[in-house]
Amino acid sequence: MPISSSSTILVTGGTGFIGAWVIAVLLQRGNTVKAIVRSEAKGVALKHSLFQDKRNQGKEALLDVVVDGAFDAAIIGVDGILHLASPLSIDATSEPEEIIGSAVNLTLAVLKSALLRSQSGDHTLKRVVITSSGAAIYTPNPSVPTTFSEKDWNDASIAVVQEQGRDASLIDKYRASKVKAERAAWDFYNNHRGEIQWDMTVLNPPFVTGPAFQAPASPADLPSTLKMWYNLVVVPGEKARPAVLANAGWVDVRDLAEAHVRALEIQEAGSERIIVSEGVYIFQEWLDIANKVKPEGSDEQGLPLGIFGIPLPLPPQTPTPGRGMRGIPSTLTPRCDEGISNIVKLIG
Ligand code: NDP
Repeated sequence: MPISSSSTILVTGGTGFIGAWVIAVLLQRGNTVKAIVRSEAKGVALKHSLFQDKRNQGKEALLDVVVDGAFDAAIIGVDGILHLASPLSIDATSEPEEIIGSAVNLTLAVLKSALLRSQSGDHTLKRVVITSSGAAIYTPNPSVPTTFSEKDWNDASIAVVQEQGRDASLIDKYRASKVKAERAAWDFYNNHRGEIQWDMTVLNPPFVTGPAFQAPASPADLPSTLKMWYNLVVVPGEKARPAVLANAGWVDVRDLAEAHVRALEIQEAGSERIIVSEGVYIFQEWLDIANKVKPEGSDEQGLPLGIFGIPLPLPPQTPTPGRGMRGIPSTLTPRCDEGISNIVKLIG
């Protein structure tokens, strides 16, 4: 069941790159938000950055930041849950089961609390939205051009971590964690449908980029995929070349935040798995735009040239009418125009 306006929404992962934007959109729609955070200091910093944004001024009374450990209590009386928390900063040498277990257990903890509410006769909760990933859908590096849809599952990364264990790449461990956490969510939901009044929606975004909501003090403090973006676009070295030549799906973080809120609001989103993607990119597109930017007061190009002008190996994409999402230039250009220092501000 969708939520109505001015609802109370519980958010996990609100201190993250995507979560902060999601909370901003929820507040702007007039919802009351309960954000569960792991650290009090991060909760304070989140509030500070949210209320610095003039669009959120006057909304302080609508945000309650709850420190982790109080999930069962925090869920009481909420109309919707947006579950974004999942481990992304992974130690490269860790056992795959550590990250997989953490992602699965977090997701199941949210769903078990939601089930408990129904079992205790509290039917306020209407929808749970879970942020999975495109990584749970597409097979990395397919040998032939492939179109993926919500019907697909990335079993390839599960096979890789089973085979390689601790030696599997960090990205394969992450991908496997997203596949297993999403599968666990659907299994739980389908097994308990007869006992609950709420429904569940899963969003599958691909690579997410765009501005950080909370301006990091330095590039080292960049959140999640922005750090990867920064390393590939702003400081690409020889080692980055294979990654820079890759292409995949992407979405602007602000569009994805809007999608999270619509996933709560729209009736038809219930029980659906939904890819939220602007389209396909190659890093060269970002490099070409970034290379046009000059440092303030200088005639020089602001960034390493990268691998200029590689023809895009992609067919032209037909925009979906009415979609209204940001393209790559609009994700970068407004701040690039202000100078190279603002590229660094955008991402670091
Ligand atoms: P971030 O790393 O910026 O944020 C992750 C959030 O999850 C933080 O709030 C973090 O808390 C919290 N978290 C991480 N591990 C745990 C844990 N073990 N227990 C409780 N909370 C935890 O990531 P994003 O914002 O980029 O990602 C948000 C969601 O979107 C994730 O589920 C991710 O898999 C998914 N996603 C991201 C994509 C991307 O390109 N960024 C693409 C597709 C999906 P803390 O601040 O305390 O560390």
